[in-house]
Amino acid sequence: MSNPALIDGFGRQITYVRLSVTDRCDFRCVYCMSEDMVFLPRQQILSLEELYRVGRVLVSLGVSKIRLTGGEPLVRQNIVWLVEKLASLQGLKELTLTTNGSQLARLAKPLKEAGLSRINISLDSLQEDRFRDMTRTGKLSEVLAGIEAAQQAGFQHIKLNSVILKGKNDDEILDLVNFIRQNQLDIAFIEEMPLGVITEHQRAETYISNDQVRHSIDQFYPLTAVSESTGGPARYYHMSDSNSRVGFISPHSHNFCGSCNRVRVTAEGRLLLCLGNEHSADLKAPLRNFPNDDQPLIDTLFNALPLKPEKHHFDLNDEPQIVRFMNMTGG
Ligand code: SAM
Ligand code: SF4
Repeated sequence: MSNPALIDGFGRQITYVRLSVTDRCDFRCVYCMSEDMVFLPRQQILSLEELYRVGRVLVSLGVSKIRLTGGEPLVRQNIVWLVEKLASLQGLKELTLTTNGSQLARLAKPLKEAGLSRINISLDSLQEDRFRDMTRTGKLSEVLAGIEAAQQAGFQHIKLNSVILKGKNDDEILDLVNFIRQNQLDIAFIEEMPLGVITEHQRAETYISNDQVRHSIDQFYPLTAVSESTGGPARYYHMSDSNSRVGFISPHSHNFCGSCNRVRVTAEGRLLLCLGNEHSADLKAPLRNFPNDDQPLIDTLFNALPLKPEKHHFDLNDEPQIVRFMNMTGG
């Protein structure tokens, strides 16, 4: 007997899950983490077997796309095992990963062989010193080597994610676009979101709207909207003389909640129904209390659906309403 689908109170079917496999990271990006982060004790984090079980049950309820994220998913030991197990699930159409790229030189090939469909790589600057400033610990050359390794491993449509901050890297917008054009990559520009209390900068001061980012690109490379929707929050554009696509994820300037088909699972097994709200349900208790019975986990998932709000609300000038950091949220 097949299970019913996960449909929320606004008729949106949940088909896409972002699964955070760790809250840890080898970088400390200024917009994502504070410098002295305290990470969760290991026993509070879902084991790889528990993460697989969450994925298996969600796929049995109609989820067709899983994105592995974190923290930095590639610092999790034996991540390739999890990729291989999830990739073999019947009904899962796409298994993707978002990474900072630091471990890709080593892992791109095994991940491809394990069945990973696609990769997104975060890259905010092409200048070595600035890259280190923005990530606090990262090395640009390692990430560039990681991008190359991913291409050599055969990954197609690799997409870069760039968070643009006014006064920090907004002078590199065109450099980043030129980089993707030269290297047959796509890019998505992301507006900074007020997740977690950070001290490095005032978010309202570094905010730059994606309309401004798009305008500055459009002057050099006229952008034409891509007609087909990706189903996600990004709006994509193409340039007449390149195959690379430029996308914009604009949680502030364009609310994308109406068609939201996704939920998130944090590394400690909390189901988050919306990036911009605190509503969540604990999946770890049914996982650990009922190791051989999936029904309590399924019941918890269905009982949580009414918690999915119609839309999110971010205000950069208020204290953050969301105390979770992005690495906890599974960005
Ligand atoms: N560590 C991986 C990485 O950096 O790609 C995966 C996790 S990271 C939290 C996922 C994405 O969220 C990255 O592209 C990062 O730039 C973005 N991100 C982190 N904090 C953010 C914030 N406050 N606002 C907007 N995007 C953010
Ligand atoms: Fe780590 Fe990704 Fe957050 Fe940067 S954005 S600190 S790489 S989790």
